[in-house]
Amino acid sequence: TLTFPEPVTLNKSHKLNNVCYDIRGPVLEHARRLEDEGHRILKLNIGNPASFGFEAPEEILQDVMRNLPSAQGYCDSKGLYSARKAIMQECQRKEIPGVDIEDIYIGNGVSELIVMALQALLNDGDEVLIPAPDYPLWTAAANLSGGHAVHYLCDEQAGWTPDMDDIRRKVTAHTRAIVLINPNNPTGAVYSPEVVRELLAIAQAHDLVVFADEIYDKILYDDATHTATGALADDDQLVITFNGLSKSYRCAGFRSGWMTLSGTVAKQRSENFIQGLTMLASMRLCANVPAQHAIQTALGGYQSINDLILPGGRLRAQRDITYDKLNAIPGVSCVKPQGALYAFPRLDPKVFNLQDDQRMVQDLLLQEKILLVQGTAFNWPEPDHVRIVTLPWADQLGDALDRFANFLSRYRQ
Ligand code: PLP
Repeated sequence: TLTFPEPVTLNKSHKLNNVCYDIRGPVLEHARRLEDEGHRILKLNIGNPASFGFEAPEEILQDVMRNLPSAQGYCDSKGLYSARKAIMQECQRKEIPGVDIEDIYIGNGVSELIVMALQALLNDGDEVLIPAPDYPLWTAAANLSGGHAVHYLCDEQAGWTPDMDDIRRKVTAHTRAIVLINPNNPTGAVYSPEVVRELLAIAQAHDLVVFADEIYDKILYDDATHTATGALADDDQLVITFNGLSKSYRCAGFRSGWMTLSGTVAKQRSENFIQGLTMLASMRLCANVPAQHAIQTALGGYQSINDLILPGGRLRAQRDITYDKLNAIPGVSCVKPQGALYAFPRLDPKVFNLQDDQRMVQDLLLQEKILLVQGTAFNWPEPDHVRIVTLPWADQLGDALDRFANFLSRYRQ
């Protein structure tokens, strides 16, 4: 007779022990259950423009459709030549010097490339300086790669700029890289050239690779202008800049992003690392080919994102109402976002009952059917912030924030 072994519990690998990605975490599971029960949930938790009626530029859709029949095969592991050429020209426009076709890697969104770049760089125990608050994929990917995410603080009092002294204090002999997210998710901060220069100087003094996540570089409000990190770096500094179509061109579902390597002298002495990166890119064969046909049209075509961010534009109006309504709630303060698609308000711990911010977000979901993400999910050390996505129409946001205010009036100490 056949005997079968007793079933044993299947555990996740140890590699995942320090990996956490709470934007799509446990509270979202609650939201799904409520939806299954027939409730309508306003999901202000994910920066997905398509969920809120934003559409990609028509010419992008046309080009992807037209090229679909010729996009059936794999392409070069780094991506289609025509798309990389367009990215190269975009680097020239942004004054990032010395980016050649071979310095460009196209991926299935920036997300894939973040994981790839950290896998290629980090040995066990290596440290990466990552902002707090951060876009948490950076922390998750550093830890998954065997490294340690070490968080440097951004200073809310100073418009959420990186605290340079904190960065200097946290550099050790194990630090290999520093991450700069500009414009920032979740704070909406946009850094001045002085801030970028100071951060680059610290990186240079300690020979750190600079990861510049600039996916929101075209989503700017008021007088904000974007400074490309790679444009200010020295030739002997390796800067890896990340960007993509998900936000500025409103087609996150296409999964199309890229990274570019700059620093002409630094690249020569980074040959071995770059070979590793290229090998990882070839192991996943190539990025989704149909979506790569969107890149040239997106970067070279009419920049309709500008219509959304200028005064009178939809994104701008939504940012404004979010900022105004939040600051009108007693006990809540919010730095005005200068870019991106989020607000990251502070809830005064002396006013509200905030021991556990995940619990608070869950209570808000149950009581008001609004889904936010707690600040600690962005590696912010205190349970006193939440992130709000500013993508819904202004009247819907206004209504949601009125309900948030009502909820908070019951959530006092
Ligand atoms: N970087 C930042 C700062 C983001 O906010 C996001 C998505 O929200 C990503 C990267 C990932 O974008 P992609 O859709 O290109 O994977």
